[in-house]
Amino acid sequence: MTTPLFELLEHHDYGEVHLARDAATGLKAIVAIHDTRLGPALGGCRFIPYETERDAIVDALRLARGMTYKAALAGIAHGGGKSVLIKPTGQFDRAALFRAFGRFVEHLGGHYITAEDSGTSIEDMEVLRGVTKHVTGVKPEHGGSGDPSPFTALGVRRGIEACVKRVLGKDDLEGVSVAVQGVGHVGYHLCRELHALGAQLTVADIDPLKAERAQRELSARVVSLDAIFEADCDVFAPCALGSALNDATIPRLRCKIVAGAANNQLAEPRHGDDLMQRGILYAPDYAINAGGLINVAQEVVGYDEAVSRARTMKIYDTIYEIAERAERAMTPTYRVADTMVEERLARVAV
Ligand code: NAD
Repeated sequence: MTTPLFELLEHHDYGEVHLARDAATGLKAIVAIHDTRLGPALGGCRFIPYETERDAIVDALRLARGMTYKAALAGIAHGGGKSVLIKPTGQFDRAALFRAFGRFVEHLGGHYITAEDSGTSIEDMEVLRGVTKHVTGVKPEHGGSGDPSPFTALGVRRGIEACVKRVLGKDDLEGVSVAVQGVGHVGYHLCRELHALGAQLTVADIDPLKAERAQRELSARVVSLDAIFEADCDVFAPCALGSALNDATIPRLRCKIVAGAANNQLAEPRHGDDLMQRGILYAPDYAINAGGLINVAQEVVGYDEAVSRARTMKIYDTIYEIAERAERAMTPTYRVADTMVEERLARVAV
């Protein structure tokens, strides 16, 4: 039995979800707007196949909520939104479909601003740009902010510095050992930042070429996908997929800090409690990995790389405050981060 639409919205505590269908192009789009108290909703556009339409709606609801939390904690004047386009099976005209989506976004009048996400590219954002101004992630020559990963990596590095200060009492990363799981876009840039500051790196990646590049260029020690969890290190930095922290992996960790870029690192919230009980400081994922979002949000007001950098550097303060409050209240850091968001939203509540 499928859940009726409004019951689904009630269950996820939503007030606003927009649907668009365009028969000519096959567009089936969902724009979920979770919260706009801090500003217009900003969030990527996902274009992947879904088994059911319900799955697509639930994905949009879940992702848009996450954007509210990420933006609020990053201190940017945006709410949380996300769009999901159900990828058609069979032949379709991609540009025509994205133009239809762009018209839909334009009709929302700036209440929702879109960006790249899984399954979409800068080319798609360029197509959207032809029909709506409420799009980010366009080409730099059109005011775009470029690849977000270096900014995400910068923010993660700042978060690691804050954790190192709290746990090891050190003001720099000289000699600090960091195990990085996944050296793709963000992981590689993070390794470069850490290496430049004197950290010792251990890395693992499914793609041996990526791991070898970190070894060759940044003197990283390469270990197997499995051994990365047991690396003897100060910091474990998950920069691959979600759910890296689970019942099987947490007991194997030999680090004092978990701080990385991956989204949804905790398989379940209780794993954040588990880390605290083991005396491991966990930097909440959406707090530490907001650099890319901070950078893209800058496009809305006129892109300025120096401002993006300065704002991303402040992730140090956010992570430091979370760690401090968590220690004082003897509460897991992920709960403190959620509380800080709820406090910020309550301050602007009408
Ligand atoms: P990416 O695909 O470029 O990199 C992921 C890397 O992890 C790849 O090199 C892949 O081979 C590797 N990998 C996959 N499974 C692995 C495993 N089991 N063990 C070790 N390595 C594995 O992606 P990315 O853009 O670098 O993003 C990394 C993570 O950070 C994702 O969870 C993403 O959602 C999150 N994130 C990225 C950004 C950004 O700016 N790109 C922003 C916020 C959050």
